[in-house]
Amino acid sequence: MTTADERFYRARVVQRVDVAPDLWTFRIQPGGHFDFTPGQFATLGLEINGKRIERPYSMVSAPSEDGVEFFLELVPQGMLTPRLYKLQPGDELLMRKIAKGKFTLQTGDSRMNHLLVSTVTGVAPFVSMIRTLAKEWREGRFDGAHRIFLLNGASRPWEFGYKDELTRLSEEMPWLQYVPTISRPWDHAEWQGEIGRADDILRKYADQWGLNPENTHAYLCGHPEMIENSKAILKRRGFVEKGAIKEETYWLLPRHERSAAA
Ligand SMILES: Cc1cc2nc3c(=O)[nH]c(=O)nc-3n(C[C@H](O)[C@H](O)[C@H](O)COP(=O)(O)OP(=O)(O)OC[C@H]3O[C@@H](n4cnc5c(N)ncnc54)[C@H](O)[C@@H]3O)c2cc1C
Repeated sequence: MTTADERFYRARVVQRVDVAPDLWTFRIQPGGHFDFTPGQFATLGLEINGKRIERPYSMVSAPSEDGVEFFLELVPQGMLTPRLYKLQPGDELLMRKIAKGKFTLQTGDSRMNHLLVSTVTGVAPFVSMIRTLAKEWREGRFDGAHRIFLLNGASRPWEFGYKDELTRLSEEMPWLQYVPTISRPWDHAEWQGEIGRADDILRKYADQWGLNPENTHAYLCGHPEMIENSKAILKRRGFVEKGAIKEETYWLLPRHERSAAA
């Protein structure tokens, strides 16, 4: 790596966990101070043939943790992920020194419920928020008045990078509800949980949990189609005020697929 640009850290991978053939987590030591609010993203990159390729990635870790954790998906035809996928502990990558993004928990008004809807790696910012609240809860700095309701969709059971941790936390934390759901259950007779896409089960759980626009903020993260479908469902339920729904779309659908999803 050749960059000497002051905007970047030459960060180092310190841990890698392979979750599935195309999903993995990294823990990175930035090599300097890196400040962020749960829900924000970092900009990671590599220099490839003298050209810097960068992409945004949401932090999974809480700001208090040692190192910064990410949950990544390999996009085989992509510019950056096939190269990031080759990195092992000890390898270097570029990381912008400043975190960005406004996809953070809204806690400044009377809406105390937070409905978080995600697909696969889109769970990342929600894990950061939940780890942070769990730490504050254990230290007596969070009273549980804000309640978190997380729907986490994937095609198959092995795509959940954080299911065990989130299940444990939801058993321990009275303010957390967690529902993982899979959309391709047919090869997984052992799966005991919900079936369907996250947006398919959204209505059912919003009703069950008593979530409405007067008491709830909604946050959608990950697959563009899930975000469009969920937004349409929530809007029909009255989530129409500016700021009622926050969204973090991880990539854009090709033009010909966009109208079908809207
Ligand atoms: C705010 C923000 C946070 C993000 N956080 C994460 C994160 O935590 N983890 C993560 O893995 N990714 C995350 N992404 C997506 C990430 O930034 C890259 O877009 C992704 O890693 C692909 O990069 P690439 O260079 O390999 O592919 P590119 O060369 O950028 O894309 C190639 C093609 O694949 C499409 N594409 C991109 N990603 C996917 C995908 N996952 N599935 C199907 N098609 C795709 C693109 O639209 C494009 O058409 C985030 C994106 C945003 C905007």
